[in-house]
This record gives sequence, C-alpha cells and structure tokens, in this order.
Amino acid sequence: MPELPEILNLSRQMDRELRNQEIQSVSVLQEKCVNLPVDDFINKLRGKRVGEITHRGKWVFMRLEPEAWLLLNLGMGGNVILHRDREGLPDKYQLLIEFADGAVLSIGFWWFGYVHLVDDEGLKRHQMTARLGPTPLRDPGFTRDCFINLLKGRKGSVKSFLTNQANVAGIGNVYIQDTLFRACLHPLRGVQSLTEEEKSLLYDGMMETLREAADLGGLAHEKDLYDRPGGFEDFLVGYREGKECPRCGTVIVKIKTGSTSSYICPQCQPEGK
Ligand SMILES: [Zn+2]
Repeated sequence: MPELPEILNLSRQMDRELRNQEIQSVSVLQEKCVNLPVDDFINKLRGKRVGEITHRGKWVFMRLEPEAWLLLNLGMGGNVILHRDREGLPDKYQLLIEFADGAVLSIGFWWFGYVHLVDDEGLKRHQMTARLGPTPLRDPGFTRDCFINLLKGRKGSVKSFLTNQANVAGIGNVYIQDTLFRACLHPLRGVQSLTEEEKSLLYDGMMETLREAADLGGLAHEKDLYDRPGGFEDFLVGYREGKECPRCGTVIVKIKTGSTSSYICPQCQPEGK
C-alpha cells in the first residue's frame, strides 16, 4: 500500500511532467471511483490546464485552472503511469486522462481508489481530505515542537495515534514498523505514558524512516510514474519476522495489534513499559 514516501515521489514526478498541460479527454471505466456523474466529471475536466501537483498524506492534489482540484487516492495500491502516447497502455486501468500533447496518464487500482473533482469550496467540504493532519517532509510547520504538542492529552496506543490520518497524514502499516523500532517503542504503548525524551525519539524515528524511503523513491514493490520500482526494501524490523534485530540480535517477531500486524524486537521494544 503506498504511503507518504511513494505519494511524495509520485506527486513530484507528476508535477514535473504534467504542469501546464491541457486535458484533452478523459475516460472513466470504474464509475464508483469518481465523485460526480461520469459525463459531468469528464466535461468539467476537459480543457482544464494543470497547475501545481502536490500531496497531503496519501492524497495527490492536482490544481487545475480554471478553479478546480483533482484529488487522487490509490487506496490499497495501484499504478499511475505516464505514457508518451496511446501505444503501450496497460491492459487494465480504471481511468485515462489524455493531454493536448498526446501524453496519456493511466490510473489503475489494485482494489479501489478515488479520483475526485472539486472546486475551491468543494475542497473545504471534501470530508476525506479536509481533516488530514500535517504531512511530514512536506509541511515546514511540522516541527518537533508541533509533533510533541499534537501528542498532548491524547489517549490510545502510539501505533493507532500515528496511523490515524487526522493526527499525522501519510503513515500506514508499512512505515510505522521501523518508526517505532527506531524510537524503541512497543506499538501498544500508551501515548499518555511517553516521556519527553521518548516523544522526541519518536519524532526522529518517524522523520528518519520516511526520509530514507522517500530519498530512495519509495518501496521496491511499488511503481512510480514511469512504471519503475522504488529502491527501498531494507527494513530494520518491518516484515523481517524470524530475522535478527539489527541492534541487539534478538529474533524479530510478528504480533497482532488490533486488526493489524506489527513486527518488533521484543528486547528493544518491550511491552508495558
Ligand atoms: Zn533489538
């Protein structure tokens, strides 16, 4: 599932390739992924010019002129691929956007995703993005102090706090693993019990984990805009059940944490501390 490093990389590539392009035509094969009647969606997109493309959390935000936003979420995963022309389009896709210069963007979801078109007012009311928390690596205001403030007075486990998109946008069950390992925290550790030092370590662990993966173009099993895999695959504890902890050599275990799995070093990340 794509998380912040993959979406950051994808939105940068999209911005570089598509900025100032004019949308010529759109085909929608999966009607449920758009938020308007299909004809309306297509008519509104046609003729629009692409402005800045950025992201918030796991959502790609494409500014369109005149006044509109195309919001893209890949859900469990998928491919957004740029083709120079209609040659070589994938067999399966849910949506195609063709540009005036002949380039074609194909959007395909593994399961289900969203491609929503809203105006400025609609953006404020767009439930799925309006309540997103700050996006690490993107929002300059997301400092250590800002993060420590967010934790104040909060309840629940540190894992559910960090993977809740309303608190911090962009982290899911992939990058949470090494984030918590770097901070020496068990996933079920209560936010309320964290010391100031642990909060600070958690911020560092999160930023380091996300930055490293983003610098390598995201996960090796996810594809970028050019259909190339990312370069990140060396997790510290994530998905390394049965292997040795890189810090202390203890065997890494996979545990159930609510509805999700976690990979931890039981020595470095003790429970109930
Ligand atoms: Zn260890």
